[in-house]
Amino acid sequence: MKQESIRNFCIIAHIDHGKSTLADRFLEVTNTISKRDMKHGQMLDTMELEQERGITIKLQPVRMDWEYEGEKYILNLIDTPGHVDFSYEVSRSLAACEGAILVVDATQGIEAQTLANCYMALEHNLEIIPVLNKIDLPSADPEKRAQEIEDALGLPKEEVIAISAKEGTNVEKVLERVVQKVPVPSGGKDKEELKALIFDSVYDSYRGVVTYVRLFSGSVKKGDKVYFLSNKKEIDVLEVGYFKPKYVAAEELHSGEVGYIVTGLKSVRDARVGDTIWQSSGSEVDIMNAKALPGYHIVKPFVFAGIFCTEANDYPLLREALEKLKMNDSALSFQPENSVALGYGFRCGFLGLLHMDIVQERLEREYDLDLIMTAPSVSYEIIMKTGETIVISSAADLPDPTKIDGIKEPWVKVEILTPKDYIGNIMTLCSEKRGVYKNINYLDKNKVIVIFEMPLASIIVDFYDKLKGLTSGYASMNYEYLEYRRDHLVKLDIMVSGEKVDALSAIVHREESFYVGQVLTKKLKDLIPKAQFVIPIQAAIGAKVIARETIPAFRKDVTGGLYGGDYSRKRKLLEKQKKGKKRMKMMGKVALPQEAFMAILKK
Ligand code: GDP
Ligand code: MG
Repeated sequence: MKQESIRNFCIIAHIDHGKSTLADRFLEVTNTISKRDMKHGQMLDTMELEQERGITIKLQPVRMDWEYEGEKYILNLIDTPGHVDFSYEVSRSLAACEGAILVVDATQGIEAQTLANCYMALEHNLEIIPVLNKIDLPSADPEKRAQEIEDALGLPKEEVIAISAKEGTNVEKVLERVVQKVPVPSGGKDKEELKALIFDSVYDSYRGVVTYVRLFSGSVKKGDKVYFLSNKKEIDVLEVGYFKPKYVAAEELHSGEVGYIVTGLKSVRDARVGDTIWQSSGSEVDIMNAKALPGYHIVKPFVFAGIFCTEANDYPLLREALEKLKMNDSALSFQPENSVALGYGFRCGFLGLLHMDIVQERLEREYDLDLIMTAPSVSYEIIMKTGETIVISSAADLPDPTKIDGIKEPWVKVEILTPKDYIGNIMTLCSEKRGVYKNINYLDKNKVIVIFEMPLASIIVDFYDKLKGLTSGYASMNYEYLEYRRDHLVKLDIMVSGEKVDALSAIVHREESFYVGQVLTKKLKDLIPKAQFVIPIQAAIGAKVIARETIPAFRKDVTGGLYGGDYSRKRKLLEKQKKGKKRMKMMGKVALPQEAFMAILKK
């Protein structure tokens, strides 16, 4: 196939604006998948979790053949995950393409991730094709939304295509526009050195690691010896091919194409997203001088939490499960953690809250583990009096305060897109959360972007829910990492029955420590079940107790209310209670439910 017939593009959008639905329609229109096989819809969201929640977690490429005005085209589409946790993967997908379809919900208009994704696409010099989706809905206002797109993004409103991905209206028009507008991939001389950008890599138990690549020069086929430029690893190519969307083997991949390379590697850590696969054009092999494609970096976890088993015996299973997940998830990190309250477990690092949620759910679902998770936290840089800096990801690891000179925490830039009526509420919320106001930009008469700088720690604890609550669900947000900043941070300890529960310790700002201590002890009072003895709950900074609550004694007999013969009902109740207990950890004689460890997150 000629280079001129290839178009590489992705779909970007705010979550729920209809990316995956549009991708499904493309697959139908191009006969890549027959209508009959399109049983459940969302063909590219293949994970069980994705189908259930209706979100795209893993990006998915697909190659479609399409004929337009008598010419045959190859359309390579990459459906990207919209969530901010995966923005690095999205950026690598954008780097693999020449164009992007920007989907905007015609009932909602532009939202925070629309902007973030659009700017990212512009940074990569992509041709942007704006599309207004869901015009079948009565509340859709394509005229007004097209104007919004013109005002906010500078894309002419006449170029905005109004579609319904659900009903298929104007979907072919979008493909026509892709063929007309998206530039032909450059390069194309097969004699060049091979340079292939890895925009995703997955582990498959019988193929090993399969890398998803875009070739920028050269070609690659089975049996070739190729190199990863970041770690200089050499591998033999076991197979190459395309996504239809299932793997279909091919003779050779050429410059400009999107496809996969089977590597036989055992972990995605050896074939990281963003890395360049390289092969010399001639006999002189000089990997040291080969230039990698730009933009590669190793993504670092920003959010941390402890994961423990309710059954201590399951610890080896948990380790095995985490190791297996990590083979397919280079962003997941974990190291053993030993908690007085929770026993042996792991301190895990995640890209963000959604990533954390997904890992937890997969551990429980695919490995049948009952877990206790601690509240998420960030990592801190501790400046010691000796001048040394250490990084901790758990408050329990904080060194002796007398040896500490200061504590730094990560800050982020937050962009909140909202109707202007809610500016006041948002200002109040952000200030309460230690935010520093930066700017307000008007997108149009009604919509504004409020920009704050905030500690990441403030965002990972109930910020998003509060924001949604205060704006009737209208605000959307996006954030990006800034730097570590020093502040007056202290460690807040929680004592239950006089014993420190290390897994409940948190690092908080000194000025909010009293408030947090009070709220936390109150919540714990409600969450910890009564016992046959009094349970005091205290919050302390160092040796100083700053808040205290007491749970009175109570004798609980669940079957007491039922009389006589109905044994099966009694047994059911007891069974139910046993199940309820499952997610408890005994701390001395006190039972701590899972919710207690998440108390800091609860309203
Ligand atoms: P994504 O998060 O961008 O991938 O969005 P999805 O494709 O998963 O769509 C989000 C929701 O919007 C789903 O419930 C879809 O059924 C719905 N949806 C998508 N396109 C349309 C459309 O054109 N019209 C209507 N009425 N609903 C749509
Ligand atoms: Mg989706």
